Amino acid sequence: ILDLHPDVLNEEMFQAFVSGNTILYGSTPLSHRYGGHQFASWSGQLGDGRAVMLGEYVNRRGERWELQLKGSGLTPYSRRGDGRAVLRSSVREFLCSEAMYHLGIPTSRAATLIVSDDPVIRDQFYNGHPKKERGAVVLRLAKSWFRIGSLEILAANQETQLLKQLVDFTIQQYFTDIYEMLSEGDRYLTFFSDVVSQTAEMIALWQSVGFAHGVCNTDNFSLLSITIDYGPFGFMDSYNPEFVPNTSDDTGMYSYENQPDVGLFNLDKLREALAPLLTEQQRFQMTKILELYPDIYKTKYMEILRRKMGMLGEEEDDAMIAAVLLKMMADTKADFTMTFRQLSELSLEQMENAAIPPHLWAIRTLQPHEYFTRWLQVYTQRLKQHTKDSDEERKARMDTTNPQYVLRNWMAESAIRKAEKDDFSEVKLLLKVLQNPYVKQEEAEKQGYGSPPPEWAKELRVSCSS
Ligand code: AMP
Ligand code: MG
Ligand code: MG
Repeated sequence: ILDLHPDVLNEEMFQAFVSGNTILYGSTPLSHRYGGHQFASWSGQLGDGRAVMLGEYVNRRGERWELQLKGSGLTPYSRRGDGRAVLRSSVREFLCSEAMYHLGIPTSRAATLIVSDDPVIRDQFYNGHPKKERGAVVLRLAKSWFRIGSLEILAANQETQLLKQLVDFTIQQYFTDIYEMLSEGDRYLTFFSDVVSQTAEMIALWQSVGFAHGVCNTDNFSLLSITIDYGPFGFMDSYNPEFVPNTSDDTGMYSYENQPDVGLFNLDKLREALAPLLTEQQRFQMTKILELYPDIYKTKYMEILRRKMGMLGEEEDDAMIAAVLLKMMADTKADFTMTFRQLSELSLEQMENAAIPPHLWAIRTLQPHEYFTRWLQVYTQRLKQHTKDSDEERKARMDTTNPQYVLRNWMAESAIRKAEKDDFSEVKLLLKVLQNPYVKQEEAEKQGYGSPPPEWAKELRVSCSS
């Protein structure tokens, strides 16, 4: 990502730079003040408590990135925290941002992970004593780190001039078409409309890979609709719409199935933050734009589900076929990732006879369900409506959209346990595997990444400090 020529920085300088020990000439590190709605209530001022922006960087391909260190120490917004991050959370952020990118989901990226020997104390206990963990620093990249909360704090404090400046800047830098083609008054509405549809698309993509973010606060929702702030996230093993990856989320507000609605809530907060810049008439138009969100979301989600099920064209019953499949998956606790992946391995003939080969373990989970045989018939009929499509073509197509590998909690946990003992082999293997999530890989299969999750995976929990 950095695409940095070794002549620019030698190894030693590079390490000093990405661990926060050296500031490069021309860089003015800064932390950003933002606010946010956390678990639906206004939290007031928050800010980068453990993130520092080092500056903008243009790589050799001409891509412009904002570089941030996460976990490098105190900032003006650290409040009671120490500004540090532990190895565990840093490995998770590092691996998940890269995994999401290679799944084709808009996200911040991660370039480096530096482990420190300094002990950091968090909420993990050992024999009743707080456990000391190793600290770590991640260098992360995004086109912009501005969030909904970046605007909310300015609106809340009635800093209208600053609010206007930041919105204008954001549109000029990252929504160039809008800036060039529209007059000032229309820009804000079109910007809002773009964020609404792109956020709907991002969440539809999350849902399609069984990803739950864990902390969908407005301070964690990007104005560029990229996934940011990887903390207590989780990819589902068994399909469960009520899946809540974050142990601190007792009411399940940010469960997997709630994410599309939470997106709407957050966009409504963006609407409120933009309101001071708009006329009465435009404010009314904003509410109209937001009313389109549920349909935009449903359309995107259905589009992806059709692809996941290997369907060509659009038929009226597609949503029903998808809903019954998901219902069977929920009832039988079928593996979310592998059910879709293995669906592609069935030939039309096998489907017609409900003959499921033994190696398709995820599909076999569905087999006892009362709807299964009938569903297979309806699904087969649907696929046959586009006869030009062969079994092989359908499989090839489905395999580019249904990953074989996602970053399951147990996979991350296993790699972290080794990393804590200075063995980074599994972190490296995971990174390599997840860079090609749609391709079955021998090393990954040997590790069990394509097998039913181990028993101990069921006991794993993650919290905000994860
Ligand atoms: P995050 O999940 O990193 O966005 O953190 C949520 C809020 O807590 C933000 O306001 C952070 O700045 C703050 N925060 C989290 N961890 C720390 C830490 N170790 N030191 C200081 N502030 C933190
Ligand atoms: Mg955050
Ligand atoms: Mg976080």
